[in-house]
Amino acid sequence: MSESIDEHIARLHRHGVIDMHFDLPMDLYDKRARKNVLATDFLEDLEAGDIGVAGAAIYIDDRYLPEMGMRIALDQIARLYIEVGQSNRFVICRSYREIVEARKQKKIAFLLTMEGVEPFGADLDLLRVFYELGLRSLCLTHVRRNAAGDGGLFAASGSPRGGLTPFGRDVIRECEKLGIIVDLAHISPAGFDDILEIATKPVIISHTNARKFYDIERNVTDEQIKAVGARGGVIGINAVLVSPRKDEATLDRYIDHIEHVRGLIGIDGVAIGFDFFEFIYRQWSEAEQIAFQEKFTHAHFVPELAKHSHSRGLTRRLIERGFSDDEIERILFRNWMRVFEQWLEE
Ligand SMILES: [Zn+2]
Repeated sequence: MSESIDEHIARLHRHGVIDMHFDLPMDLYDKRARKNVLATDFLEDLEAGDIGVAGAAIYIDDRYLPEMGMRIALDQIARLYIEVGQSNRFVICRSYREIVEARKQKKIAFLLTMEGVEPFGADLDLLRVFYELGLRSLCLTHVRRNAAGDGGLFAASGSPRGGLTPFGRDVIRECEKLGIIVDLAHISPAGFDDILEIATKPVIISHTNARKFYDIERNVTDEQIKAVGARGGVIGINAVLVSPRKDEATLDRYIDHIEHVRGLIGIDGVAIGFDFFEFIYRQWSEAEQIAFQEKFTHAHFVPELAKHSHSRGLTRRLIERGFSDDEIERILFRNWMRVFEQWLEE
């Protein structure tokens, strides 16, 4: 009996698709005056894309720093808990076992992640508090400098060369001790090397792209990709920095990034970190949009890969481009699950 393409996609998605980077808490916070935002604004799209697990990233906008960083982070976490409590379709998971259980119950699992240590400033004790609140994956920096180090610039060169601060080094050690996944996304090239020197477990890059196709220090070189692969780590491919050229910001170019990483470190090292951002960008004023484009070079959204429901189109194209069922399941699900099992035993 022959299987239709839709049945084939459904079979490959039966465990769910895992997206390790989603700027959800910030949006929930911005919409805090409303109820049931998850259910009304997100559920349909997540379900249409068969999303099983999403990394829900705490990020603090410049305008809140430094004084309000921790306060806004706590408010974002609060909104996520409150919103999840208002629907029986979602759950916040703290361990590999909880994620497996959530998938059995067909619930969408959120893993709390953080982009930049600003919420806990330079206080390692507060990292422990965020862990207790559910934090399970951490990038030390976004683009700007903080107490842990510097971010990689959205430019081909010029990122600060200082690497990690002593505090940044302590954060990496503490993450390994607590069971918070060490995420190298955004870190400067010098900071990247420092983290690899300290970390002993398989590190990840939750959302990034290959500099081969988009040459900025916020993305990663072939050497960096190989270094993560050599440690058994996983790299999530970002759908926002696919190409500096608008006409090349396509689904096929997104898959080129996947193929490139597979070619360098094998299929076990590549996964998904969509970083869908257009829904937030569209809510901004024109002035805010221009400021964003000037600050972060030119982010071109991929029209066929701009929201979670587009995951099915990605899988269809992976099939058409010759990826095997086994490879697609690793990219969409199994590689991140392996990382969760390694880091989040509890
Ligand atoms: Zn990011």
